[in-house]
Amino acid sequence: MRTHGDVTIEPLYADFHIHTVYSADSVIQPKTLVDKLVAHSFIKVAAVTDHDSVRGCKATVELAAAYPDILVIPGVEVSTTEGDVVVLGTYELPPKPWTPEAVVDFARLIGGVSIVAHPFRTYGMGERARKYKVDAIEVLNGGSSQDANDEAKDFAKNLGLPGTAGSDAHQVSELFSVYNKVDAAMDIDSVLKAVKNGAVSAQASRGSIHF
Ligand SMILES: [Zn+2]
Repeated sequence: MRTHGDVTIEPLYADFHIHTVYSADSVIQPKTLVDKLVAHSFIKVAAVTDHDSVRGCKATVELAAAYPDILVIPGVEVSTTEGDVVVLGTYELPPKPWTPEAVVDFARLIGGVSIVAHPFRTYGMGERARKYKVDAIEVLNGGSSQDANDEAKDFAKNLGLPGTAGSDAHQVSELFSVYNKVDAAMDIDSVLKAVKNGAVSAQASRGSIHF
């Protein structure tokens, strides 16, 4: 708990990397994700980051509007020429070609956040991410091995960048396997600013994944 002016704000808990059926390899329906957020005891924020598509986040944000105590952050996981980059805070795809520079610049221009997804796994950018002005590194990915996540954590520390968590769920059972504790208010801008400022910490749900 912390205070902001004279208002006390509780930290919020968020999963920043989720695929819906608008990703060819996911079976999670937007409605199911919304229902899971509504039902969850403390994770009330989720970013929808489909592969190269913003259709899923648009659909999920629309459904979530009926529930004031949950927040869906629109986003996309862009297959850049050097590896996957998650952009949070967009309803639009970046203009092509999807080079890392262009995608990172796009995120900055729209007031979004660029995150290097699972840097040390397949489709990850690895050490090449050093070359780009990304906002954060995904240090805890629900689909990565512990070694790959540990390496990402060291990498973020080395670069002095915030580290984020994302379940990378493609199935309902994978939702919220890892999550972020964020010192922010329940609105998109506040959450994005908190990530950029490093007011975020990656956490694993006990029992679902080992760290
Ligand atoms: Zn993903």
